Amino acid sequence: MTDYDFSGYLEARGTNWFDEDPMLVRWVERSNPSEATRRMLDRFGRDAASTWIERSDVAERRDHLPRIREPDPYNRFPATEIDLPSVTWKTLAEIHGSGIWRADFDERARYAIVYLLNEHGEMGVTCSVACTDGLARVLRMAGDPDDPRIREVLGRIDGATEADWIHGAQFVTEIQGGSDAATNALEARPDGDAFRLHGQKWFCSNLTADYWLVTARRPDGPSDHRGIGLFCVPRLRDGAPNGYRIRRLKDKLGTRALPTAEIEFEGAWGFPVGPLDAGLRTMVAVVLTTSRVHNVVAAAASLRRAHREAHAYAHFRTAFGRKLADFPLLAASLERLAAEADLASAGAFACVEDWTAALDPKASREQKTWARILVSIAKAVSTRRTSPRIYEAMMLVGGNGIEERFSVLPRLYRDAAIMETWEGPYTLLLSQALSDMARLEVPGREAEFLHFGLRDAATDELVRELAAVLAERDPVARDLAWGELAPRIYFAYETWALATLA
Ligand SMILES: Cc1cc2nc3c(=O)[nH]c(=O)nc-3n(C[C@H](O)[C@H](O)[C@H](O)COP(=O)(O)OP(=O)(O)OC[C@H]3O[C@@H](n4cnc5c(N)ncnc54)[C@H](O)[C@@H]3O)c2cc1C
Repeated sequence: MTDYDFSGYLEARGTNWFDEDPMLVRWVERSNPSEATRRMLDRFGRDAASTWIERSDVAERRDHLPRIREPDPYNRFPATEIDLPSVTWKTLAEIHGSGIWRADFDERARYAIVYLLNEHGEMGVTCSVACTDGLARVLRMAGDPDDPRIREVLGRIDGATEADWIHGAQFVTEIQGGSDAATNALEARPDGDAFRLHGQKWFCSNLTADYWLVTARRPDGPSDHRGIGLFCVPRLRDGAPNGYRIRRLKDKLGTRALPTAEIEFEGAWGFPVGPLDAGLRTMVAVVLTTSRVHNVVAAAASLRRAHREAHAYAHFRTAFGRKLADFPLLAASLERLAAEADLASAGAFACVEDWTAALDPKASREQKTWARILVSIAKAVSTRRTSPRIYEAMMLVGGNGIEERFSVLPRLYRDAAIMETWEGPYTLLLSQALSDMARLEVPGREAEFLHFGLRDAATDELVRELAAVLAERDPVARDLAWGELAPRIYFAYETWALATLA
């Protein structure tokens, strides 16, 4: 045993990640939060720098990863339950019971907390957080306010406490494809004023949730996307599993503390949310878009944490009698990481503002169009950039950087791959942004569109290039040109956003 002591590095990571993050504080201050909200941010800022580090270390240990609970010996139920470590349940209770999902909770404070959570990677909770946000939003925006089933779930969300809280999950992807969700085949058979679901979903994350939002096809409906409804399915009914069976858990590269399963629906009872012929549209417009915004925030938070770790280590560790941070190449790498974390964070915060502004029923058409396209580009571009930067941070730390328990970096790196994949991978989202621009009549209005979204960062060159892309008749040339332009549009947006926060 040597007396080499890492405490200098551990302490340099900080004690309150809210207070000590000037950009995050400046952003939230725009809302002039109430004293109660400030106390929450202070509490979660301290948890982020202490309790959550310890808990995520426990949750991510290989022997603590989610497992399917063995069916009981009396042949009563098939495999339906997942065991999670108690630390995960504690964090879930503290977040979901905190009041964060109340409709009147400040949007900036809400996503500041999401940011702090995501500085730790998945740790079995951030998917639940994104899905519960989506559940609350879709029930408020699309649910029939007179339906007692909708009111009951919303009542449980609004009245949540640490002792009594609920969370959500969302299942769209089937074996034949996740991007082309209009191919969904899982059946929703009418049963009175409810439905019974039969079939399979291929990627079902956070399945310990109390309510699952599931897309399913009505047997009597049209064969395209209009035949797909959105259903809210309680996991338990009268305390017993609600007509489903877990086939297997995915063995994933990242988000390992989060259970993701293949599920067989065998008559699960559920009730519709929103019009029956608009289920897929509602799921994408509200639920998946909410998750995509969480991903944008998560990408920024991962970079902030990667920089926090690499910076602390490089100023603690010495080699050849010098601090690592004094080696010019290493210092340049650190600076790049800091700049990317600032840029990504400013972009994410602006994206939250533009998106939440568009949710206001009184929002202008321009705001709605911009937000719709912005979220697709932001999710695609920001998550794609994250893995290489976290990789660089890992390499800055050297051998300790790739040791799973020494720092969060390996986990952030593995989770970043998932962040880019789920809720719409890179190329799908860029394609979707392009077709949305055509549908929302951006062609011919490119200058207006970019000046609205990018404010004074919209240049004549970007306007000209966007006009050229949208006018391109060769679909291959158009897609390739757009693939080159979209990241530059987002970079201009982030640069503008950073200038407003500096
Ligand atoms: C860890 C993990 C957890 C997940 N959890 C959930 C969950 O809880 N619920 C859920 O519903 N799903 C979940 N998913 C599934 C995820 O959302 C899908 O993987 C994703 O939507 C892509 O679908 P796919 O895997 O079927 O890929 P495909 O749809 O087969 O796509 C493959 C590739 O083709 C590209 N592509 C497809 N269409 C186009 C197009 N029109 N233009 C350009 N490129 C295109 C895609 O970008 C992608 O690169 C999870 C996935 C992972 C990895």
